[in-house]
Amino acid sequence: MKCPYCGHDKTRVIDTSHDTRGGIRRRRVCVNCDQRYSTYERPVLATPLLVKRDGTREEFSRDKLMAGIRVACAKRPVAAVDIERLVGEIEARLQQMGKAEIPSRHVGDQVIGQLKSLDEVAYIRYAIVYLRLDDLESIRSEIDRLLAE
Ligand SMILES: [Zn+2]
Repeated sequence: MKCPYCGHDKTRVIDTSHDTRGGIRRRRVCVNCDQRYSTYERPVLATPLLVKRDGTREEFSRDKLMAGIRVACAKRPVAAVDIERLVGEIEARLQQMGKAEIPSRHVGDQVIGQLKSLDEVAYIRYAIVYLRLDDLESIRSEIDRLLAE
């Protein structure tokens, strides 16, 4: 590890702790300039490729998923941290599957399931796009189903 202050390549670890995401934080001190800084080690897990309805493959994009959920949650009382947590949980679950590829609907199904409990209006907005509810009748039956639950 090179010191970010002076570039010296010898540092001493003065403290090691675990962070909440299963990583390790090391507090270091440079033996040359005495500056202190922290480094983090986290496991890098592979996220499976998403296979779309038409058979094409797409890489999982945290940003894209986040953007879609943000649009659904626009002007709704949903905190940004809740959206981030939701996306983080979905990504973690995909990685834990340990597969090279999964159908992309797995992602949409999870969003749908989670949004339902987070905000019903956001859920309906997302469902209109994701479930391709493209006429008033199918949107209404989805809302009726929701109200009946
Ligand atoms: Zn240094």
